[in-house]
Amino acid sequence: MSHLFYQGRGRKPVLDQARGVYMWDTDGRRYLDGSSGAMVCNIGHSNPAVLAAMREQMERATFGYRLHFETEASERLAAKTVAKMPEGLNRVFFVSGGSEAIESAMKLARQHAVATGRAGRWKVISRSPSYHGCTLGALAVTGFRSLTEPFAPMMREMPKVPAPRAYLDGLDPEDPATGRHYADMLEAQILREGPESVLAFVLEPVGGASTGALVPPEGYMARVREICDRHGVLLIMDEVMTGAGRTGAFLGCEHWDTQPDIVVMSKGFAAGYAPLGGIVAPDWLVEPVLDQGGFAHGFTYAGNPLACAAGAAVLDQIEQQGMVANAARMGELLLARLRELAARYEIIGDVRGKGLLTAFEFMSDPVKKTPLPREFRAFERFVQIAYDNGLIVYSRRTRDGVEGDHILVCPPLIATEAHLDEITEGLDVSLRAFTAELPE
Ligand code: PLP
Repeated sequence: MSHLFYQGRGRKPVLDQARGVYMWDTDGRRYLDGSSGAMVCNIGHSNPAVLAAMREQMERATFGYRLHFETEASERLAAKTVAKMPEGLNRVFFVSGGSEAIESAMKLARQHAVATGRAGRWKVISRSPSYHGCTLGALAVTGFRSLTEPFAPMMREMPKVPAPRAYLDGLDPEDPATGRHYADMLEAQILREGPESVLAFVLEPVGGASTGALVPPEGYMARVREICDRHGVLLIMDEVMTGAGRTGAFLGCEHWDTQPDIVVMSKGFAAGYAPLGGIVAPDWLVEPVLDQGGFAHGFTYAGNPLACAAGAAVLDQIEQQGMVANAARMGELLLARLRELAARYEIIGDVRGKGLLTAFEFMSDPVKKTPLPREFRAFERFVQIAYDNGLIVYSRRTRDGVEGDHILVCPPLIATEAHLDEITEGLDVSLRAFTAELPE
């Protein structure tokens, strides 16, 4: 028996090696990593340049406490990160993962409000469904009932507005009225809460695990920005999954030219080579906090030199190998292939995504958008079948609001057309087996 436990009891094969888009277990079985882990390993596994940069850093120093030393690695990564950010976002605070980064963004926003005489503002509005992390603060803005409910008495749950799932509501995502409709729910919520109590709105520009690659409808992002400005609410862009090129732009919010007040990064930032996250904010947010005695927040491993050396090398690889453009190009091809599968398998009720953040959703009635019965546990079963066929994909059953089982297909950004062929073939075989199991 293993001494480990995670979310359940299931035992998985033991990982032996990983190279590029492939992984091998200790029995020699090969898997195509069609989800980049949990949408993490954007640059592919075992990239030699990243390994070399990490080795070099290891020979110099593996740890330097942030209150004692700056490190060249963290300065280098900060400069490279700022160079990729929208205008004005020039201050970086490092952490070790996405939940820590979300906590940091919310606390920086709050301390800025206190430091600037707006101490009445503390509510952070988010969307449902959404996922922003599993620590209690991040969970308070996560819209995913099964994950939040057991912990409700231990945290101060934050207000939620519906995620813009136009396809479920029968609205046309191309119609700007749809974008306005969902964004205006944010304004209504701000007014209900009392604008003077609302600190920030946090969102994933393209939905991740919670909504399965949900792309916002036309006009939504611009209207959200406008509403935040009107009510003095900060816009926190959770780019944990969408950042580092995943959607075919370095940041997801670039697709809509939306200016965030704080960007939250992790996952693809160091692409799984080391635990790393960060927030990026403008001077006007950071300086008042530093003037009032400093940011009352920080983690022991912040700016860890090994993680930062990995992150800097990852950003170089993304740039040198043109991975952002490849994600855009391959994403179009992958969406087309998923649509071909949807045309052949009635059970696929929706296909969506941006760049290499793509998904399809199972429905028993694609017209009425009826989900499969819960007891099918389709999201788990399909993933297992694909896994047995040597293809790793990622899934969730969305439990808040209207339910559905979506399967995320998100290979590393180095994927080629040949890899997409292999993914499509793996999905086809798995869909055939999966649909054969379903009752008439
Ligand atoms: N935000 C988003 C959008 C995520 O997808 C995740 C993780 O899946 C997180 C935050 C939390 O990141 P972590 O698991 O590294 O704490």
